[in-house]
Amino acid sequence: MNIAPEFAAAGGAPNYPSPYFSAEHEMLRAQVRRFVETEIKPHAGAWEEQGYVPREVLRRMGSLGFFGIRYPARYGGSEMDTLASVVFAEEMGRSTFGGVAITALVHADMASVHVFNAGSAAQKEKWMPRIISGEVITAVAVTEPDAGSDVKAIRTTARRDGDAYVIDGAKMFITNGVYGNLYCVAAKSDRGAPSSRSITMFLVEKGTPGLTVSRALDKHGWRSSDTAELHFDSCRIPAANRLGEEGRGFYAIMKNFQNERIVIGAMAMGEAQAAIALTLDYVRTRSAFGAPLWQKQAIRLRLAALAAKVEAGRQLVYHAAWLDSQGIDATKEVSMVKAYCGELVNAVMDDCLQFHGGIGLMRESAIERMTRDARVQAIGGGATEVMLEEVAKRL
Ligand SMILES: Cc1cc2nc3c(=O)[nH]c(=O)nc-3n(C[C@H](O)[C@H](O)[C@H](O)COP(=O)(O)OP(=O)(O)OC[C@H]3O[C@@H](n4cnc5c(N)ncnc54)[C@H](O)[C@@H]3O)c2cc1C
Repeated sequence: MNIAPEFAAAGGAPNYPSPYFSAEHEMLRAQVRRFVETEIKPHAGAWEEQGYVPREVLRRMGSLGFFGIRYPARYGGSEMDTLASVVFAEEMGRSTFGGVAITALVHADMASVHVFNAGSAAQKEKWMPRIISGEVITAVAVTEPDAGSDVKAIRTTARRDGDAYVIDGAKMFITNGVYGNLYCVAAKSDRGAPSSRSITMFLVEKGTPGLTVSRALDKHGWRSSDTAELHFDSCRIPAANRLGEEGRGFYAIMKNFQNERIVIGAMAMGEAQAAIALTLDYVRTRSAFGAPLWQKQAIRLRLAALAAKVEAGRQLVYHAAWLDSQGIDATKEVSMVKAYCGELVNAVMDDCLQFHGGIGLMRESAIERMTRDARVQAIGGGATEVMLEEVAKRL
C-alpha cells in the first residue's frame, strides 16, 4: 500500500507530470503554495475570529498577480487559462482556511468576471486595473431572500429614470458584501419580459446612497469570509453603470457560473487533499490498542478509497477546465464537477474528522474548521440537486 507516502510527500499531490499543466502553471502553483504557507496559514486563525481577511493581505495577493491570472496584460493581468484558475483555487483550498480561499476566489473568478466579460471598454479601463491590484474588491449579488437556486425568480428591480437606473430590493448571502467596494448586481429591468430576458447586471459602488449593508451574516463555516445581506432603497446609479445589454443578465450569470463552478470544484479538491494529508499524519502517530491507527485496516482502506475518489474528482475538474479553455461547451462536465466535488469534500471531512476522534471536534484542530467550511460546498454556487438536474438534462 503506497498511496499514503505519495500523498504525504507532496501535501496530497502525486509527483508526476500532468498533461494539463505547463511549466508556467507549475510556477504559479509553487508561488501560491509558498504564499499560503508563509502569509496565510500563520495568520488566518485571527482572521477567522475577526470575520474577514485584512485588506492589506488582498492587496498583497493583487501585487503577486493572483487576481489577474486570466486578464489581459494591458490591465495588469497575466493572460493565462482556465487551468491556471484551477491551480490557484486548488492551492487556496489546500490552505485549510476555506473562508480565506473563497474571499479571494469570489473576487478573482466569480464577481470580477462580470466586469470583464460584459463591461464596456470604459468600464474595464476604469475598474480592471484596480480589481487586479486588489485595490478594489468585488462581490456578485444575485441571490435574494426569496430566490437562490431559481435565479429567474429574483425580485429586485431596476427602473430606468432619465440618465439613471433606480434599484429597489434585497440581496442575501453576498460574499465580500460587507467589506467589498464594487457590487455586480442582478435586477429585473423589464418585468413584462419573459424571465430569462428580464434580468440585467449593474455595477453599484459601495457608498452609493440607497445601498446599505443591512446585516453581516454569522455563519457555520467560512468564518473569515464576510457575507452580507444588502438592501437597495431607491438606489440611483448612472445608466453608464449597466453591465452589458439590457435583458442579458440571466445569460451572463449562467455563463459566469461555469467558471465559478470549476473554481469551487478545484477549491473543494484542494481542501480534500489537505484533509487526507493531515489525517494521514495523525493516524500514523496516534496509537490505540497497542499500535498506530494506520495499522487498522478499516482506517487504512477508508483513507485509500477517499484518496482514489479525490484523485478522480481532481481529474474531472482538470478535464472540465481543459474543455473550457478549448472553448468547448462543458456545461455537463462542469455540473458534474460541482455536484461530485461538493458532495465528496463533505464525505472526506466527515471520515477525516472521525479518524481524529475527540480532538477532531475541538476548535483547536484544523479538521474541525475544515469540516464546517466544507458544508456550504454542496449548496453555494449551485446546490447538488440543481447541478444533477443539469447533468440529467444532458444525458
Ligand atoms: C456562505 C454563502 C455564500 C454565498 N455567496 C453568494 C454570493 O457571493 N453571491 C450570490 O449571489 N449568492 C451567494 N450565495 C447563495 C448561494 O448560491 C445559494 O445559497 C444557493 O444557490 C442556494 O440557494 P438558496 O439558499 O436560496 O436555496 P434554495 O434555492 O431555497 O434551495 C434549498 C435547497 O433545496 C434543494 N433544491 C433547490 N432546487 C432544487 C431542485 N430544482 N431540485 C431538487 N432540489 C432542489 C437544494 O437542496 C437546496 O439546497 C452564498 C451562499 C452561502 C451559504
